Formats: sequence, structure tokens, C-alpha cells
Amino acid sequence: MIRLDEDIMRAAVDLRHELHRHPELAGREDLTCKIIRDALDNLGLLVFPPRIGTDTVAVLDTGRPGATTLLRADIDGLAVTEDNRRICFASEHPGRMHACGHDVHSSALFGAAAWLARNSESLSGRVVFVWQPGEENLHLGKNLVETGLLEYFGVEHVAAFHCLPGLPLGAVYARSGTQMAGSAHFKVVIHGRGGHGSRPDLATSPIEAAADAVLRIGRHLNDGTTVCSIGRLASGEMDNVIPDDAEFSGTLRTLDAKSHDRALVSLGNMLDEVDAVRGTSHEIVISSDYPPAVNDLECFSRLRQAIQGVAGLEFMEMDSPRMTAEDFAFYLERRSGVIMFIGSGDGTPLHNPKMFVPDEVVGFGARYLIAAALEFCR
Ligand SMILES: [Zn+2]
Ligand SMILES: [Zn+2]
Repeated sequence: MIRLDEDIMRAAVDLRHELHRHPELAGREDLTCKIIRDALDNLGLLVFPPRIGTDTVAVLDTGRPGATTLLRADIDGLAVTEDNRRICFASEHPGRMHACGHDVHSSALFGAAAWLARNSESLSGRVVFVWQPGEENLHLGKNLVETGLLEYFGVEHVAAFHCLPGLPLGAVYARSGTQMAGSAHFKVVIHGRGGHGSRPDLATSPIEAAADAVLRIGRHLNDGTTVCSIGRLASGEMDNVIPDDAEFSGTLRTLDAKSHDRALVSLGNMLDEVDAVRGTSHEIVISSDYPPAVNDLECFSRLRQAIQGVAGLEFMEMDSPRMTAEDFAFYLERRSGVIMFIGSGDGTPLHNPKMFVPDEVVGFGARYLIAAALEFCR
């Protein structure tokens, strides 16, 4: 039975409020890093110097034989101006907000670390706590893993969670296999031939070709395993000038390597068809960002079992993966483990200026992480 002591819970919630007041953007989390390191000061953990700038890695070594488990939280905020009147700890920095709940992940991990350090006699093996910077856009989880973090500490299993609005408070929502999609982004430039707006017959409009391409992509590149959406489309300067070029860019989400490769071939074919019909040519630049986040079957079953009976947590089976991406996938690519969602009640979506996670989720997250450490460190 995991009972979070009142003083630990209070310290974790205080930490959450402080982090929430001072969000910092991906890769620039200097104050956040300092706040976390200060909070860890008296826990008796071994705290390591940063590997990639603003990360914090701390280790609890029980000295007893057992596996090494890595628990990870992300620490970065977003370029969003908070619009929350219902909390007294709203962001004090216009244009920056913890709108993805990473303040909650970080303070839940702190709560878990404090509890595990205090109760280390009921634990075997080692726990590696990681406060990771730059999850949003920069996917610094990849950089951190590539420093040899997992090998250096001999990590066998990994675990993390992400808050999920709209799901009942404390619901743990997950599936075995692919939990979240892999993502890539791409930019397409279409070359036509510009001209006078009065003589479209003498020009090759890149705008019409781009519009055609965007419609084809929307129609044919969205099925059960693939989602593709265009977030930017730009061309031209003046009403009566047909420009030479148009460009658009978008994101591609797929559930496995096969559908990723297939989607890229379809995307190329569609652009070739547009060129053939419209007389244009194109260039495309694609960069693959995140692999899919895949939960290991055995770890999933063990943790699912372990959280049964943990106060406040209730498991809910997820029937299909979500198309959001998560850089914890880089850890899961190399070590068996799990990432699960924890319901945060309020339905305002992540990344929204009114996004709100109640303080209780700090406790739910901490108990989930403790359960993972107790289970996987055996
Ligand atoms: Zn996010
Ligand atoms: Zn997030």
C-alpha cells in the first residue's frame, strides 16, 4: 500500500506551484533546473551534473540486488500566454505557460523520489530519476539518451506518464504495444511559372497546384494508421501577380515504420501526379522526428497489475493508440518499459491557454511512479 506522507505531498505540490509560476521554453530551462536541484537537496540521493545543459539525473541505490529502473519527467513549458483565473499560481511570464502539464510530471517525480528515498528499505535495486528538458519540438530526450545515459546507469526498465485532460481524475489509460504515434514533418515547394493576373493562360499557377496537392493529401493520407495535416501554406505577394512558387508544410503521424514508409511513398506519388496534371515541379524535405512510443507487453502487464489497489488510480484499457508524439519513445526504443496517461479531469485540451491540471494529479502521478519502481526494481 503506497501512502504519500503529508509533508512529501505538500512539498511536491509547492514545487508544482513554483514550476508553474515560472515556465521556461524547451532547452532553456535554467531556473527550472535550479528549482528542481534545490528541492532534491535533502533527499539523500546522488545528484549528477547535467549531461545536456538543463537536465537533472538523481540516483537512489538501495545497495540490495535488483534491477535498475529509470523514471522520467519532462520539464519544459510552451510559448502560450496563460489565461487561467481559477488558480493562484498562474504563470508570471506572458508568452510562457506549462500548458502540457510538465510541471505536474516533474513534481510527481519529485514526490516519488522523496517517498522512495524515505522507504528505501522496502526497495531493492536502483532507481534513476530523470528530469528531462526540451520534450516539446526539440525532442531532447533523444539527445539525452544518446549521451549513453541508459548504458551508464545500467538501466533495465523505463517508465513515465503524461497528464490527459478529459479523462476521469486518476484514471490510468494505456495499452500494450503502440501507445503513441511516431511523427515526421515535411516541407514542399511547388515551382510553377509566374505571370500577369490577367493572363493565367500564359502562367503555371503554383497556388492552384499547391491547393490541389493539399486536398489530395487530406483525402488520401488519413486512415487508421496514418494522419497527415498541413499547418502552413504560403505563396504570392500581390492580388494581380501569379507567383513562381508556393510552399506548404505539415506533420505526418504513423503507428509503425511500415505505415511511415508507405505514407512517404504515397506523398511522393501524389506530388508527382499534381506535377503531371498541372505542369509544375516540386521539392520536398522530410525529417523524421519521433519514433512511435511502444509499451512493452510484459512491463505493461506487470505495472497494470501493480497499480491495482493503489489509492486513487484506476486502470482503463485504451483501445487504439493516440496520434500525439512523445520523445519518451527514444527511451522505449532502447529499453523495455511503459508510458501511460493519467486522467486530469478538466476537459480543456493540452497546449490551450486555459489548460488546467488539479494538484491531486501530482499525488496520482507520484503513486504511479512509485508503483513502477517497486515493481520493476525487483
Ligand atoms: Zn505538449
Ligand atoms: Zn507534454
